[in-house]
Amino acid sequence: MRRISIFGATGSIGQNTIDLIARAPADYEVVALTGASNIAVLAGDAIRLRAKVAVTAHPHLLEDLRAALAGSGVEAAAGPAAIAEAASRPADWVMSAIVGAAGLVPGLAALEVGATLALANKESLVCAGGLMLGAAKRHGATILPVDSEHSAVFQALSGEDIQTIERIIITASGGAFRDWPLAKLRHATPAQAASHPNWDMGQRITIDSASMFNKAMEVIETREFFGVSPKQIEVLVHPESLVHALVGFQDGALMAHVGPPDMRHAIGYALHWPRRAALPVERLDLARVGALSFRAPDEQRWPALRIAREVMAAGGLNGAVFNAAKETALDGFIAGQIGFTVMADVVEQTLTEAQGQVETRMTLDNVAQADHLARNIARQIIQKRAG
Ligand code: NAD
Ligand code: MG
Repeated sequence: MRRISIFGATGSIGQNTIDLIARAPADYEVVALTGASNIAVLAGDAIRLRAKVAVTAHPHLLEDLRAALAGSGVEAAAGPAAIAEAASRPADWVMSAIVGAAGLVPGLAALEVGATLALANKESLVCAGGLMLGAAKRHGATILPVDSEHSAVFQALSGEDIQTIERIIITASGGAFRDWPLAKLRHATPAQAASHPNWDMGQRITIDSASMFNKAMEVIETREFFGVSPKQIEVLVHPESLVHALVGFQDGALMAHVGPPDMRHAIGYALHWPRRAALPVERLDLARVGALSFRAPDEQRWPALRIAREVMAAGGLNGAVFNAAKETALDGFIAGQIGFTVMADVVEQTLTEAQGQVETRMTLDNVAQADHLARNIARQIIQKRAG
């Protein structure tokens, strides 16, 4: 029996993880499941999987959660501190699938108890890669990538010498507006941005795919996770979303990872690693697919990719500033305060204004301070633009 916990259990990644473990309930002992507002799903899964504890991020929903769990024997808890406490309970395998910077603290707590951390939450590496990797090393914990591109790179690297990598290419579908005329982008609505051509994901990451902020985050994540230099990381637009990443070696070979756009592959790979287990994903019929196409990303359409390079060059806590500004700009776009193309302006301006105001040393407190500062700056910029 493996002890497992899922942070962000009610979301898209969380539910896909539960889909996999619910197929073999005898193999797993569920320690903690966490969610936010969706109490019915959180409580239902906690009861079904016999979790020890279910935690909602919202203290005002604790009574609802208690009521939903009444008589089940599952403990109820609420608030960020309770999520961190749940993450410090011993577990063998922990899924980090909270969306946003809120995923950082529980991920670190899980590493500190030596768990194998399946990392879907990309914000952790973007904001505080040094802290995550340092904690894993100190506590003998393993981090396994769950983002599909990074899982693909990790798989392509299996058995290879990391020194022989020349480049890492991660692919991007291009999102909802890949083929829109540039002039029309300014008027794109959140509903239009939240419809992805290939992947079925949470609302925020889907909009981030349309703006390429998702890929910008993934470029930084690649640098942190695999320790390559920014120059070695390339982005390739691949509308079919079947090749997830390619690794180029010094002998000129490219190892590509090809698979259906189903997150249960990357989640299942991390769940069973280092073994490969049978997974309930579609088998690709490449003869039917016929053709795969690739093109270079247009940086005018997607300024986020250029911003990612600036963030990597600046280093330090700029990743935390970048992420917080991006999250705040996304909130502003979803709320109808700013247009689609203004998000990149807000992020860039926040990075400029935050210069010299953030600490240089990477500690959890300094990351939190940079995050807080960037959100305030970004909110002010949004208010000015909206008013
Ligand atoms: P989602 O919005 O579907 O789910 C997010 C989860 O986090 C939910 O369980 C929600 O209750 C919880 N949550 C939200 N705010 C919270 C807070 N403040 N504190 C605690 N919990 C909170 O998101 P998702 O698409 O499942 O993505 C989760 C993470 O995985 C993100 O970092 C995303 O970038 C990453 N990711 C997702 C996919 C995908 O296919 N969905 C792919 C790669 C990486
Ligand atoms: Mg991805």
